[in-house]
Amino acid sequence: MRLRNVSGSREVISTSRFVVQDFKEHKNNWNKLFGNSNPLHIEIGMGKGRFIMDMAKLNPDINYIGIEKYSSVLIRGIQKMEVEELPNLYFIRMDAEEITDVFGQGEVSKIYLNFSDPWPKDRHAKRRLPSREFLNRYNEILSKEGNLEFKTDNKELFTFALEQLELANWHLDKVTYDLHNDEAMMEGNVMTEYEEKFSSKGNPIYKYIISR
Ligand code: SAM
Repeated sequence: MRLRNVSGSREVISTSRFVVQDFKEHKNNWNKLFGNSNPLHIEIGMGKGRFIMDMAKLNPDINYIGIEKYSSVLIRGIQKMEVEELPNLYFIRMDAEEITDVFGQGEVSKIYLNFSDPWPKDRHAKRRLPSREFLNRYNEILSKEGNLEFKTDNKELFTFALEQLELANWHLDKVTYDLHNDEAMMEGNVMTEYEEKFSSKGNPIYKYIISR
């Protein structure tokens, strides 16, 4: 993703009540922050937050956390929350490499990866969010019955993700190579910003759902 520096975004994020600042302190105790015992779903690499905000609106009985590495992108989600506050959603600004310091064993019921950065160079493969290195981290935080949903329009990244899930001993529950023409998998689909952009150009959208 090409980033434009949004001046002042770091300062806004460091004082926003929609952003959890001391996020490692909440490990094993996220329900307390939300004040209920609802399941916890997270999106890693939420970008400007359209998907996770729409999900939070549709599912008030699920707690959501959106994770984003860059302030200049996350700021857009905060601006939207200032207009329409959602009690079941918080944001964290962090690199997902630290995810096991933030959530306890089995604390998360679902992980969403949407249009993750492809990192095309082989030497950067470990940075890809559906890589086996990341799957091993997700394995620690995901509940026993939990699953992971991944969407992308990038064929190489999707092929890589399919190989990696096998190497990490995950199970492929559902897969489509053309989500928008797959009636069953399209049911209840919530579009992301990138999904809208790339599907409107005619790109097929790939999706899998995996579990252990
Ligand atoms: N999910 C959004 C969508 O589908 O519209 C945004 C997709 S954008 C291509 C990928 C986002 O993931 C970027 O905002 C990027 O900063 C974020 N990202 C990439 N690697 C990350 C990491 N290791 N930890 C947290 N966020 C990450």
